[in-house]
Amino acid sequence: MGGLFSFRDRDLARLIVEKIRELEPPRPVKFCHVCGTHEWTITHSGLRALLPERVSVIAGPGCPVCIVPAREIDEAVWLALNGVTVVTFGDMYRVPGSERSLEDAKSLGGDVRVVYSVRDAVEMARREPGRDFVFFAIGFETTAPMNAIEIPRSPENLSFLVSHRLIPPAMELLVGMEDLNIDGFIAPGHVSTIIGMKPYLRFPQRYGMPTVIAGFEPLDVLMAVYMLLRQIREGRARLENEYTRAVTYEGNVRAQRAIEEVFETVDGAWRGIGVIPSSTLRLREEFSERDARKRYDIEVGPGRDIYPGCSCHLVIIGKITPRECPLFLKACTPEKPKGACMVSSEGTCRIWALESGL
Ligand code: SF4
Repeated sequence: MGGLFSFRDRDLARLIVEKIRELEPPRPVKFCHVCGTHEWTITHSGLRALLPERVSVIAGPGCPVCIVPAREIDEAVWLALNGVTVVTFGDMYRVPGSERSLEDAKSLGGDVRVVYSVRDAVEMARREPGRDFVFFAIGFETTAPMNAIEIPRSPENLSFLVSHRLIPPAMELLVGMEDLNIDGFIAPGHVSTIIGMKPYLRFPQRYGMPTVIAGFEPLDVLMAVYMLLRQIREGRARLENEYTRAVTYEGNVRAQRAIEEVFETVDGAWRGIGVIPSSTLRLREEFSERDARKRYDIEVGPGRDIYPGCSCHLVIIGKITPRECPLFLKACTPEKPKGACMVSSEGTCRIWALESGL
């Protein structure tokens, strides 16, 4: 048996763990990943328990749903309650806005539909030309190219509520948080298949931060930890690519061009974090007729990102673990979530809750 199973090989895992132990530094080191799938792999495979005492891995803002500000969900809810059909991914359906989620909007009579891809939204709009559709375009650099391709050729009755966010600027914010004390980054494999390696060069070069792009299998993550520790032992920060089977230096240039043609990069708010410079995509002026924010006079307030008592804003940046939130598995469970991190399948709280055996 080859393929993915070789990346879950127990003997190989033992070997890498031995090498990791040989490199255990004399002081505690903390590595940060920024990807919900990495968190799932680490938690589901019990990788943290394999690491030496002085090596830890924390979860950064890697859940594309959890970081959408409540205000932007409020906009989608407003549209759904004002006669527009809102189309979105399943993960976004239950995420709370300031007061309501899209699920609530549906129960109040709004037309909210869940799809797997923007293509489904395009087809729906073509099938029902008399109806107004808005696609709630969320996600990181991975989902932006598909939307960028569909937007210029989408039917008249479909517009886009764009809420894309970019990963490297969020990593840069984490570097600047001195009390986080990050010693290295595990960069997300899927985002990197699109953007390539170049956007991460700033981390070793400007900040002296070891950075390794990693795939999503348990051995990928263990190898990334090993590679980071090797850099720390050598005392030299650099950018390395563990996920060579998918990520190239240049990345997917066609996808990058598609993003560039349709979107421009602007400062933008992240849920519970605040504004991060150059971290958000916005439709270019040429596509303003496809911009739901320009097509409709959406009326929403400033937005309330965090439910009272919820610590999502701290979980999202890896400052605390879900277990340190007093509501975890008490008032907040996957069935009755209080915060976005417990709703999404990529949210750290939900991943930890499901692994706890609930
Ligand atoms: S456990 Fe629930 S309330 Fe606590 S931080 Fe996570 S989502 Fe928020």
